[in-house]
Amino acid sequence: MKKWGFLLFLLLSLFLTFIYKESSFESKADIPNVEVLKYEQHENDKAEDRRASENSQQTDISEEQIYQGNLLLVNKKYPVRPESIKLDVVDLFTHSELVKGYGLLDRTYLSEDLARKFSDMITAAGKEGVSNFFITSGFRDFDEQSKLYQEMGSAYALPAGYSEHNLGLSLDVGTTQMTMAKAPEGKWIEQYAWKYGFILRYPEDKTDITGIQYEPWHIRYVGLPHSAIMKEKGLVLEEYLDYLKEKKKVSAKVESKKYTVSYYPFSENMTIHIPENHEYEISGDNIDGVIVTVYK
Ligand SMILES: [Zn+2]
Repeated sequence: MKKWGFLLFLLLSLFLTFIYKESSFESKADIPNVEVLKYEQHENDKAEDRRASENSQQTDISEEQIYQGNLLLVNKKYPVRPESIKLDVVDLFTHSELVKGYGLLDRTYLSEDLARKFSDMITAAGKEGVSNFFITSGFRDFDEQSKLYQEMGSAYALPAGYSEHNLGLSLDVGTTQMTMAKAPEGKWIEQYAWKYGFILRYPEDKTDITGIQYEPWHIRYVGLPHSAIMKEKGLVLEEYLDYLKEKKKVSAKVESKKYTVSYYPFSENMTIHIPENHEYEISGDNIDGVIVTVYK
C-alpha cells in the first residue's frame, strides 16, 4: 500500500510540475525577448578596460548627475530634489497636438517628451483594438501634492516631494470602461508597456518592497532596455537598482538590439570611458551613483 501511495504521489507531482510549466510557458509568450548576458568578470574586464582606454570617448561625471535622468528612484526614503524635476512640463490642455489617441479628465500637466512617448504607446495599443485610455493625473508640483496629501491623508497620498508625480516621469492612466485592474486597457499596459520604456511602478505582488498599494493605473517611464529587463526578471525599480549595483555590469539584448548597462558609485573627479562609435545615456539613481547605458 505504502509503495502505491508513494507512486501516486510521484505521479501527481509530475503532473502538477507539467501543468505549472505549461502555464508559465503561456505567460512567457508576453514576456520580452530579453537575453541578459552573463558578463565574464576579471580577465575580460581588464582586457576590455585596456581596449577602452585606447579607443574610447571620455565623459566626466558631476555630482548633480546622481539626481538627473530616467532611472531616479523616488519613494518615502528618497525624495524628489528640485534639480530632478523635468524642465519640459507643459499644459496638455493647450497642447492638443500632444493629446492623440487618449482623453484628459482635467487640466493635466506632463513632460512634453513623456507625452510623446505615452502617445506612441497608446497608438500601438489602439492598433490592437485597445483604445479607451485617458490620463487621470500627470505632473504635480509640490503645492498641488501638498493639497492632495492634506485632502486624502497618508494612506492615499504621499507628502510633497515624495511622489513620482512631482518628478515628471509618471502618470496615472484610466479607462472609460471599468477599473484598470480588470479593463483590457490595464491588462494591455501590464503586458506591453515595457516595449515603450514604461513600467507598472506598483505591482500587486511587490507592495512590501514599494511600500505602496497595488496601483494598476500608475506608470513610470524608465526607458529601454531597463523596462524590458525589469519585466523579464520581475523586478520593481528598487530591486532593479540593487541588481545593477550588485552586478555592476549587465549586457542585454532586447529585440536584437544590444545594450550594456553599468552602475558606478559616484566619486570626486569621476571619469567614465565609453567605447567609440557608441551612443550612451547617463542617469543617476537619486541615491549615490550613476547608471550608464551604452548601445549602438
Ligand atoms: Zn500615480
